[in-house]
Amino acid sequence: MTTLVTGIGELATLDGTLDGADHAEGLGLLHDAAVVVDDAGEVRWVGPASAAPAADRRRDVCGRAVVPAFVDSHTHLVFAGDRAGEFAARMSGTAYDGGGISTTVTATREASDEELRALLRARVSEMRSQGTNVLEIKSGYGLSVDGEARALRLAREVTDEVTFLGGHVVPRELASRRDDYVDLVIGPMLEVAREHARWIDVFCEPHSAHAFTGDEARTILEAGRAAGLGLRVHGNQLGPGPGVRLGVELGAASVDHCSHLTAADVDALAGARDTTVATLLPGVEFSTRSPYPDARALADAGVCLALATDCNPGTCYSSSMPFVIALAVREMGLTPAEALRAATKGAATSLRRSDIGTIRVGARPGLTTLDAPSHVHLAYRPGVPLARLLDLTEPASGCDG
Ligand SMILES: [Zn+2]
Repeated sequence: MTTLVTGIGELATLDGTLDGADHAEGLGLLHDAAVVVDDAGEVRWVGPASAAPAADRRRDVCGRAVVPAFVDSHTHLVFAGDRAGEFAARMSGTAYDGGGISTTVTATREASDEELRALLRARVSEMRSQGTNVLEIKSGYGLSVDGEARALRLAREVTDEVTFLGGHVVPRELASRRDDYVDLVIGPMLEVAREHARWIDVFCEPHSAHAFTGDEARTILEAGRAAGLGLRVHGNQLGPGPGVRLGVELGAASVDHCSHLTAADVDALAGARDTTVATLLPGVEFSTRSPYPDARALADAGVCLALATDCNPGTCYSSSMPFVIALAVREMGLTPAEALRAATKGAATSLRRSDIGTIRVGARPGLTTLDAPSHVHLAYRPGVPLARLLDLTEPASGCDG
């Protein structure tokens, strides 16, 4: 069965090769457009509504804008408990150094599989209700062989993009035996993780006593690579450090945060633009009241950018990609078009996926409708629930979206 989605006031395809589209801002824009999608979500046709072919069903979005579903390429959704108290303390002036992660580790270890699964699924549906389709999920609150395996197994129930983050922080019980913990991560933990995970990640942060040094991060990433996992890095979040250059050197798909970069870091990312994406997570700076990364400088240098939420209970408990887009425009100097591109095609690139993040024939991006005439409203109307993942299984109503 196929569905014709028509009445699209503005369609941002993100397809740079589409005939007849406006490519001025890199969005591949069409107006008065239509898309035909099959039941597997695969795009069969894209073009002007007036030229649309027949399909089995018809959905009219009545002039709304449609964009590729957002790709949230950095989340930590498998956790129990929250850290509202830590947030309130931070807003009263307490600095963040990564230490609160152990609070979540304790709560997560105490939760049953059923509790964790229910919390995870509720968070995923919260994301879908705000226009996200594909999302990446990291482990990192188990920090034991069984705890990490459980988190990865649960994450795998809801996404293919599963990341092993045993190298999140050193757990309290091994704080005085860091080398033993790194050995555990690259040994028995990695052995079970590789069954469930596509990626390995590490919190490379010399400015936190709880996270990992450049040498430790290299050991973990090289072991992950040898086990067949793709590489991702939490780097340069709390201060300048080796994360960006380590990620570029090892060919990581993404270095995430990039909040404190030297000119040499920016040059390294620009030189690696076909390999390594810089994923910016401005919800973290918002939630920790920290300086934002210089996205304008990165974009001007030609770095490939992604935006993601980093949804986690400590440093950004928001699941909203529209909120992240608004921050990227208002606080980091990206244009609305650049921010949309980073939240869709850029994030897909950071997952080395060309089948999502772009509305083109053969791809399966998911369609997100905006209750607005253009994508600019994502940043122009912050906090307003405009974006929704179009569910083609729902019965059609007069106006869909
Ligand atoms: Zn993170």
